[in-house]
Amino acid sequence: MANSKYAYVRNYEIADPLLPGCFLICRLDGHSFHRFSEEHGFAKPNDERALQLMDHAAKDVMSEYKDIVLAFGESDEFSFLLRKSTNLYNRRHAKILTTLTSYFTSCYVFHWPKYFPDTSMRYPPSFDGRIVLYPDERSIRDYFAWRQADTHINNLYNTVFWALVQQGGKTTTEAHATLRGTVSATKHEILFKEFNMNYNDVSPRFKKGSIIIRQVRGGKAKTHVAVLHCDIIGDEFWAERPYILA
Ligand code: ATP
Ligand code: ATP
Ligand code: MG
Ligand code: MG
Ligand code: MG
Ligand code: MG
Repeated sequence: MANSKYAYVRNYEIADPLLPGCFLICRLDGHSFHRFSEEHGFAKPNDERALQLMDHAAKDVMSEYKDIVLAFGESDEFSFLLRKSTNLYNRRHAKILTTLTSYFTSCYVFHWPKYFPDTSMRYPPSFDGRIVLYPDERSIRDYFAWRQADTHINNLYNTVFWALVQQGGKTTTEAHATLRGTVSATKHEILFKEFNMNYNDVSPRFKKGSIIIRQVRGGKAKTHVAVLHCDIIGDEFWAERPYILA
C-alpha cells in the first residue's frame, strides 16, 4: 500500500501545525441561525431550550476532549479553550478544527429531541468554526471578557427590542428605530417605565452566557463538567481557578 505510482499525490498535502506554546481558542457559530431559530419556533429573545441544547453539546465536546479547560457559550456560538501545552492531534489545525466542529454539530442534532420533543428538525443545521492562537494569559482573559460583554450588550438590546414588539405592539422596524443610538441607561429605563421590567431580574443565563469548567467532585480525582452563569470579566473567577491558564 505504501508505494503505488499514485502515492505521490499525498505530497500535495501540506502540514498545518499550530504554533507551540500558545493557547488555542476554537469558536463555533451556528450557520444562519437567524433563519434556523425562526423556522424552528425559538422563543424570542431567548429560547432556553435552545441554549440548554447548545450547553449539552458543548459539555459532550469537553467530555470527549480532555485538553479543553474552559468553554463559553451564548446565542448560537461556543468558544473552547485548549491548554497551551496541548498535543491534541499533534496540533494539526484542520484535524482539531474539523473534529471539534463536527462532533459539536452531531451532538446538537443527536440531543435535539430531548430539548425539542414536539419540533422535528426541518433541515440539518451546521456550524462554522475557527481556531485562533493567543500568546498569553492577558489575551485569553480579554477574549472571554469580549465574548461576555458581547452577550450582555446583545441581550440588553434584544430584551428591549422584543418587549417593544411583543408587548409594545411595535413593528420590528419601529423597534429598531426606537433603539437606534440609545445608551444602556436609556434601555434600562424603557424596560422599567414602559414594561415595568427590571433588567436585574432577567435570568443570569441570558445576561452572562454559559461557562463550562471541569470540577473535581467529592474530593475524588474524578472530574465532571459543570455549567455556570457567572461573571468572567472580573478577577474572582480566574483567581479561584488558576489551573485554567496554567
Ligand atoms: P451567521 O451564519 O453569519 O452566523 P446567523 O444568522 O447565525 O448568521 P448570528 O450573528 O450568529 O447570525 O446570530 C444568531 C441568531 O440566531 C441570533 O441573532 C438569533 O436570532 C438566533 N438565535 C440563536 N440562539 C437563539 C436562542 N437561544 N433563542 C432565540 N434566538 C436565537
Ligand atoms: P482516523 O480517526 O485516524 O481516521 P480511523 O479508525 O477512522 O482513524 P481510517 O484510516 O480512516 O481510520 O479507516 C477507517 C476504518 O473504518 C477502516 O479501516 C475500516 O475499519 C472502517 N470502515 C469504514 N467504513 C467502513 C465500511 N463501510 N465497512 C466496514 N468498515 C468500515
Ligand atoms: Mg457569525
Ligand atoms: Mg450564527
Ligand atoms: Mg452567532
Ligand atoms: Mg477515519
